[in-house]
Amino acid sequence: MKPVEEHLAECLAAVTVLPATDVELEEALGCLLDEDVVAAVDLPSFDNSAMDGYAVRVPDVASAAPGHPVRLPVTGDVPAGSAAQLELAPGTAIRIMTGAPLPAGTEAVVPVEWTDRGTQTVEITQAPAEGAYLRPAGEDVARGEVVLRRGVRIGPRQIGLLAAVGRATVRVHPRPRVAVLSTGSELVPPGQSLGPGQIHDSNGYAIAAAARELGADARHVGLVADDADSFLAALEAELAGADLIVTTGGVSAGAYDTVKEVLSRVGGVVFEKVAMQPGMPQGFGHVGAAGVPIFTLPGNPVSSMVSFEVFVRPVLRRLFGETDLHRPTLTARAGVAWSSPAGKKQFVRARLTRPLAADAPVVTPVGGQGSHLVADLAEAECLAVVPADVTQVQPGDELTCMLLDGPRR
Ligand code: AMP
Ligand code: MG
Repeated sequence: MKPVEEHLAECLAAVTVLPATDVELEEALGCLLDEDVVAAVDLPSFDNSAMDGYAVRVPDVASAAPGHPVRLPVTGDVPAGSAAQLELAPGTAIRIMTGAPLPAGTEAVVPVEWTDRGTQTVEITQAPAEGAYLRPAGEDVARGEVVLRRGVRIGPRQIGLLAAVGRATVRVHPRPRVAVLSTGSELVPPGQSLGPGQIHDSNGYAIAAAARELGADARHVGLVADDADSFLAALEAELAGADLIVTTGGVSAGAYDTVKEVLSRVGGVVFEKVAMQPGMPQGFGHVGAAGVPIFTLPGNPVSSMVSFEVFVRPVLRRLFGETDLHRPTLTARAGVAWSSPAGKKQFVRARLTRPLAADAPVVTPVGGQGSHLVADLAEAECLAVVPADVTQVQPGDELTCMLLDGPRR
């Protein structure tokens, strides 16, 4: 049996970051930037008002105080978006809105709250400081400045900045397109009633969701019967549009294990026993002329999900261009005793508690550990990792736990 680390290392060595490409801004979320973004404009790009109020010259309103208002004639009105080139004459005020361009000669903006809101003349009851409520051009970003560096992960705030400097497209490593195929003649989609011997496909949904949570463009492309021709046809249909294919089911030692049968014949995929529980039967390789990487995960729902966490997730992160590939972990102490198979790394669905005065969190398995127990899997918040050489976990033993929840980090 192959150690988990060795299988993972081989999978990782077989993939590299997807080549960079220009994408529309809307497509860039979650991608790593592959350029230094230089601002083509100043931000703000013109001097403008930070408040709704009145543009004034400071000496004209220096004596304004509650009970002693200064009255000025209002000689103009500037809404946001105005292209008018106004000039503020001494001894006058111009009404102005937030974001509107400042009339030439403006020294401060008096917020509307300090006035009687007049439109012909305005009474001002508080004196602004020089420069008050002005937003000078270039205050935020100077034209020519690098606003985002290569390698930054693009989130909502970075998308906002790119839009603000006028970028409609940006060069990124694109989001991997992941095709998920559920194989098994017993499978029917949720929403359809079950006939004798049938079960609802859950892997396809779980795996596609897990890939999507990582930011991938994941498609659950449906159900494939345990029949060589159907499987080959379904696989071929996905080759052109996928950067990664993930199948579940059909890779154990039984009859009708079509995925293994077909891909062993076609070549390019290596099937092996990996020293882990759950998830022992694993396949990884490349298919089609373009050599699309493919994971063939075991069919049991817990096995497929654990396999995703241990092998697929790091590979997907690498396709994105990330260098930090793994789930965050913490060290916890076992809350109870349990046994672990000799020679296999065990990934135990578990929950964490943090008792007051304890030196470390306490990890306790949830429910049974059968690979078909999806309710327990949904309950779990971590996978407690028991090393391959440990056969018995004792209360108080220290274990590394992979934290499952939370979006990609
Ligand atoms: P297999 O690896 O194809 O032998 O499947 C192992 C077990 O997992 C069997 O009990 C299957 O019915 C179950 N299984 C396979 N695929 C799925 C799926 N997509 N959703 C839920 N259970 C599945
Ligand atoms: Mg099957």
